[in-house]
Amino acid sequence: MQRSSPTILWFRKDLRLSDNHALSAAVARGGPVIQVFILEPEDGGTGPMGSAQRWWLHHSLSALSKDLETRGSRLILRRGDAQKVLEALVKETGAEALHWNRRYEPVGMDIDGPLKQHFRDAGLTVESFGGQLLHEPTRLKTTGGTPFRVYTPFWKAVDAGGDPTAPIDAPKAIAAPDRWPDSEALDDWALLPTKPDWAGGFREMWTPGEAGAHQRLKHFISKGLRGYRRGRDFPAEPHVSMLSPHIALGEISPAQIWHATIGLPASVAAEDYVHFRKELVWRDFSYHLLFHFPELPRRNWNARFDDFPWRDNKTGLRAWQKGRTGYPIVDAAMRQLWQHGYMHNRLRMITASFLIKDLMVDWRDGEAWFADTLVDADPASNAASWQWVAGSGADAAPFFRIFNPITQGEKFDPEGTFVRRYLPELAKLPNEFIHKPFEAPEQVLRKAGVVLGETYPQPIVDHRKARETALSAYQEISAGA
Ligand code: FAD
Repeated sequence: MQRSSPTILWFRKDLRLSDNHALSAAVARGGPVIQVFILEPEDGGTGPMGSAQRWWLHHSLSALSKDLETRGSRLILRRGDAQKVLEALVKETGAEALHWNRRYEPVGMDIDGPLKQHFRDAGLTVESFGGQLLHEPTRLKTTGGTPFRVYTPFWKAVDAGGDPTAPIDAPKAIAAPDRWPDSEALDDWALLPTKPDWAGGFREMWTPGEAGAHQRLKHFISKGLRGYRRGRDFPAEPHVSMLSPHIALGEISPAQIWHATIGLPASVAAEDYVHFRKELVWRDFSYHLLFHFPELPRRNWNARFDDFPWRDNKTGLRAWQKGRTGYPIVDAAMRQLWQHGYMHNRLRMITASFLIKDLMVDWRDGEAWFADTLVDADPASNAASWQWVAGSGADAAPFFRIFNPITQGEKFDPEGTFVRRYLPELAKLPNEFIHKPFEAPEQVLRKAGVVLGETYPQPIVDHRKARETALSAYQEISAGA
């Protein structure tokens, strides 16, 4: 019997074997499957990512490679323009089919469309599959037939559509070609930091790869999901899943996560798992926005913000990045980001509001810093969320809702547990002043070993005054509308 020709499976930000429709269809085609990951030059595809996510990518590729080996297969690594790399592979292997899972960021889509046509014209069978989102961004439409701009009706449409398609298992075995094409060495890609190696905190916190993703999901479902609805706002509490970096590189699919919330014991309240699903749907909503407004990472959704008088505040930006603003909840959050490549959602809102509204720095500068330092950096969620906080986005928080870093800290970190974890220099302050050391009497500071301006910064702005300045700037652009 003649063996089927090889299929090339192009891995992108879908670094998993289970619920991978492109892979399973490649295996089902019969014949060998040649898996390739291409480090593309273009940002937005699988090209140069932020420094934190490059660290993750290295470990994720390494895990995927091992997982493939246990199935008698391999991961081929190549660098360069995707079309050229794939052309070379087709030539080297005699592949007659090419499969991938669809991606939805503009740069990636601009590459994939013409590439599909190119290889079809060359006589290959080219197939793309869904699975990176719960629903394709084109599937859901308002009753008027237009894309959604508001989250709540979007959620209702998702909810009314029932559960997403049930996830599929990983293939048990993957046929290997008689001869493997050459692969580059992962270490040669220099994705890991060396001098200095700043990833110590990442190693403590994370286990990149598909197995690590499922472990985290299991742990969250059994230990964190009960109480999620309330607890998800409290950064010191273990009520968020921390699945975002695994999702960002596709080590686990949103459908797998959604389905893990079905059929739970009655002790898990519906309000908790439904709220968790709603958060997952925010990710789909962000992609829906990005798909229909590809300029989202660069341009204000609401053009009125084009006239906003952003400040060229490099000192402020630097203090924010380093966690040295003098506002403990902001600084602890920025240090969590630096140490672990992650920040709790409540804190992302507080720190983003501080940069945009207290320091009047353009949200795009904050978005860029997050893109470089988050292990879960995601072109859709990052841009949509920054625009949400700025007030310039679709269905955004109104600009005048300015987060107060003191009251937010007092409300969501009432004992100062989170602040003390990341700002040990303030650990001995009593709860009363942990979120406002600048209001503490001299003897309280002395007793806690805090010298403002030396061991911990003085506030770089007066929040009350900064708020007024931001509001009058907003009034100017509103008056001009
Ligand atoms: P959980 O509460 O456990 O939520 C589960 C999953 O739902 C998350 O992993 C994520 O995939 C999704 N999700 C939750 N909240 C949101 C949200 N508001 N928007 C979109 N998806 C959401 N998320 C990213 O994945 N990448 C980013 O680059 C990113 N940048 C952000 C920037 C700002 C300024 C803000 C305010 C939010 C940003 N978010 C981003 C959204 C959110 O903060 C993170 O998804 C969440 O904190 C991840 O932690 P978790 O997995 O523990 O969340």
